[in-house]
Parts: sequence; structure tokens; C-alpha cells
Amino acid sequence: MDTARTPPTPIVTLCGGVGAARFLRGLVRVIDPREITAIVNTGDDRVFYGVHVSPDLDIVTYTLAGRVDARRGYGLEGDTYEIVDALGALGHECWFRLGDRDFANSQHRTLRLREGAGLSRVAEELRKHYGVTTRILPMSEDPCATIVELEGGRRVHFEEYLARDGAPDEVTAVDLGEARRARPGPGVLDALRDAQTILFCPSNPIVSIGPILAMPDVRAAVRRSRAPVVAISPIVGGAPVKGPADRLMRGVGVEVSARGVAELYRGLIDAFVIDERDADLAADIEAMGIRTRVLDTIMGDVGVAQHLAEAALSLAASLR
Ligand code: GDP
Repeated sequence: MDTARTPPTPIVTLCGGVGAARFLRGLVRVIDPREITAIVNTGDDRVFYGVHVSPDLDIVTYTLAGRVDARRGYGLEGDTYEIVDALGALGHECWFRLGDRDFANSQHRTLRLREGAGLSRVAEELRKHYGVTTRILPMSEDPCATIVELEGGRRVHFEEYLARDGAPDEVTAVDLGEARRARPGPGVLDALRDAQTILFCPSNPIVSIGPILAMPDVRAAVRRSRAPVVAISPIVGGAPVKGPADRLMRGVGVEVSARGVAELYRGLIDAFVIDERDADLAADIEAMGIRTRVLDTIMGDVGVAQHLAEAALSLAASLR
């Protein structure tokens, strides 16, 4: 990007896990990472094997550190699984595969929480440990468990739905009640107030961006912000690039398309980047009053992510 036209900072991003982390890898090539704040979903957090696991915070941290297991998109490259395998041999249910060094980080989080450090402080400790300079803020320090409701009235934690049950297609509702009652984490509202641009990463709109926006104060802060708000569609050609966004969107009655995502974000975003495979939806989205840009959004390599970040920022600049 032309440095003479470097976008104004700071920049705030709303983030889930893998899709957000891939995008952030591109964004930090365009903007000084210290000028970026990632507000990260904690609706997936859960205690496994006695330790507090924050999947999205860890994916973002490991990815920005260049340490993520690139094949899986989560966990640490080269990690081993001795602890979960040993627990499995002792008869514990081990459907959540947590690597050994990942386990140590979650154990650290648990010990620090027990000592009275907040989740935000621990996120800060971990990102510094991994040499990440982008600010990483948990959306909240309150419990925010995302609950998926299934046919027959069964209610399961999001990780049970995804990792244990393999994301079945029988979703009837998603309960974000805890997030709705949660208070934003330390620094979250200040970051939104000071933001010069707000970006919604290409993340699951229901269970990653959804919980962040379910907090009434965050929603109001985004709506009130004078900074341009730009989202990137996680739905390409009528399907998610990965993960169960299609099943969840269908389950809550939203069309599985970039247009469906735009409907969810309507009133909050000024502009939307959609994939070239969805170019035929641009006019409908523009008709919602949302400026739309069409582009290759499949982040197969960091170059595409960088290009996507540049496009999102130039779209933001065009709205000033
Ligand atoms: P998760 O919690 O780890 O699943 O992480 P996210 O919510 O951040 O990511 C899931 C969403 O990211 C899915 O809906 C994917 O379709 C989307 N996603 C992942 N990779 C890409 C990509 O390369 N391009 C786009 N446009 N979306 C992506």
C-alpha cells in the first residue's frame, strides 16, 4: 500500500478464530501491528480437563506469532498429544484434542485466573510470550458460552456441537443469552471509541461475530462510531470456506449467502467485501445501503489476505 496514503489508525477488528486469524496475517503486513486491536470472541471458551481453553484467543495469538499448526488452522505447529492420550487411556472422554504445549498455556490461564488475574491480563501475557505486538482483547471476562439448540430440544455448548458431535444439520436456534448479559472486557469499549476504522473479519457471523455484537454496549459503540465499519464475507458461493456457518445460519433462519450475512450486519456496517463468485449479489447488498466491493477473498496464502486487507482499508478510506 502507498505509504503516502497510510490509513488512519488505530484499527479495531472483531474476530473469531481461523478466518479472522488468516485475515489478520494480511492486515499486519499493511498496518503497524501495534496500531491494531483484535477484539476476540470468547463464546467458544470452555473448561476441558480442568483447564480454561480459549480457542479463538489462542488461534489468533498462535497465528500472529507464526506458530499455528497451519494444516489444522489451530493449535501449535509440531505440538504433541501425550496428555490427552494419557487421559484417554485413563478413561476420560478426549474428543477435544488439546496439544501438550497448548495444554500448558491453558493451564497457565487457569492458574492465573485462580490468582485473580483477569482473562484480558492473561491474553496479554500469552501474546507477549509469543512476541505478538497486536493488542488482543477478549470480548469479555464474563462467562459467554454459546449454546446451540438442536431438534428435540437438546442444548449443547458450541464446542460439543462442533468438536464432539461433528456439527450436525439439525440446529433450531443459537442461544447467546450469556453474551447478551456480559460486560465488555477491559479496553474493548475504549478501543471501539478510539477506532479510526472498524473491521468485521471473515468469521462465523452467528457464533464468532454474533457473541461480540450480542453485548449491547458493543453493538451500540459500533453503531455510534463515526469510523467507517467494513465487513468481509465469510460465505463464498453460498457456502462457508470452512466450518459450520451454513448449518448455523440455516438453523436461525438466515439465508446462507453473502446477502444473508449483510442482512445480519445491516445497520452496523457501512461497507462489505464479497467474493467474486458472489458478484451477482452486489446490487442487492448495495440496495441495503451498504457499499460493496467484489474481490477474490479465498485466503489461500498471505498475499491474498494482504490484498483483502488493503481492499477493506481503501473501501473504508472511500467512506470518509
Ligand atoms: P473459527 O471459530 O475457528 O471457525 O473461526 P472464524 O469464525 O474466524 O472462521 C470461520 C469462518 O471463516 C467460516 O465461516 C469461514 O467460511 C470463514 N473463512 C475461513 N477462511 C476464509 C477465507 O479464506 N476467506 C473467506 N472469505 N472466509 C474464510
